[in-house]
Amino acid sequence: MMNQWIAAVDLGGTTSKIAFISKEGSIVHKWEIPTDNSDEGANITANIAASIDEKLKQLGVSKEVLLGIGMGAPGPVDYETGVILNAVNLGWKDNFPLKDSLEAATSLPAAVENDANCAALGEMWMGAGKGAKDLVCVTLGTGVGGGVIVNGRIVQGVNGAAGEIGHSTAVPFGGAPCNCGKTGCLETVASATGIVRLAIEEIKKDELQGELAKLFSVQQKITAKDVFDYAKTGDPIGQKVLNEVSFHLGLILANLANTLNPEIIVLGGGVSKAGSILLDSVNSYFAKFAFPAVKNSTKLALATLGNDAGVLGAGWLIKSKLPLND
Ligand SMILES: [Zn+2]
Repeated sequence: MMNQWIAAVDLGGTTSKIAFISKEGSIVHKWEIPTDNSDEGANITANIAASIDEKLKQLGVSKEVLLGIGMGAPGPVDYETGVILNAVNLGWKDNFPLKDSLEAATSLPAAVENDANCAALGEMWMGAGKGAKDLVCVTLGTGVGGGVIVNGRIVQGVNGAAGEIGHSTAVPFGGAPCNCGKTGCLETVASATGIVRLAIEEIKKDELQGELAKLFSVQQKITAKDVFDYAKTGDPIGQKVLNEVSFHLGLILANLANTLNPEIIVLGGGVSKAGSILLDSVNSYFAKFAFPAVKNSTKLALATLGNDAGVLGAGWLIKSKLPLND
C-alpha cells in the first residue's frame, strides 16, 4: 500500500516549519519557509500550499499521499471553527478564518490549534509524555507558553485561552510588566527574557560578586544560557537566579498539579536546555508545594522533541481524526 503522510505546519511570525509526517509519527521530510506577513497576511496560506506542492513535485510524489494538513499558530484559536482569534505578528485581523483559508489554499482537510498546545500534543504523541493522556507542557522560550491535555484532549477554555500558564501570576505585588498588559506573570521571571532581567537586576544591586557579573561588565549583555552555565559552576548570582526561577516555576506547576494531577509535566523550549540543573531545582520546589497524592504521582520531565514538537503536534491534529485502526 502507498505510504500516507500528514502535512504539518508550525507557523511562526518570521519563519514557518513544514513537515510531512507518517501516521506512526515519524518526520519523513521537513523544511522551512519565510512567513510573508505583508498585506495583512494575505499570502501566508497560499505560500504554504505552494511550498507543499513544490516539495511533492521534487519528491515525485502525488498529492494523494497527503491525508490532511494540521497547523499550530501563534495566538488563541477556536479549535472547533478553526478561527484564530488574534494574531498580531502575522498581519491577520482578529477572528481570521485560518482553517477555511488553509483548506481553500491546499484542497486538504485542515485542523488548526494554538502553537503551545501543539507542542504539548507533540510531546504527548512522540515525546517525553508518550503514552500519557493527562499532561501539562510548559514551553520556556522568549515567552512562556503552555498546553493542558486532559484525557487526550487539549483544554480550550471558553475563549481558546486555557493553558496560558505563562500568564499565571507569579509575583503578585511589584512584579515586572508582561506583554499581556498585566504585571508579575510567570513569563516575566521564567522566560529567557525574564531570567536575563533577574540576573541583570541582581548584578546591578552589587551585593554578590562572581564571574557572571564580570562577564556582564565586559559585554554589557548576558543570555539565559550564561546564567545557567555559571550557576553550574557555583557562581553566586547564577545560583540565586536559578533558585528564584525554580521557586516560581515549582510553585505554579505544583498548584496546577494540585488541581489537575497530570501524569507528567513537560518542560520544553530553549530555556529547558539548561537540563538537569533546572529540572532538579524546579523539582525540589514542586515537591514542597504539591500535596502528597500529587507529589507521588505527577512527575516532571524535560521535553525530548526540541523544535519538532510543534510540527508533530500539528500532525497529531489530523492523526487523531483518522479511524482508530488507520
Ligand atoms: Zn502576562
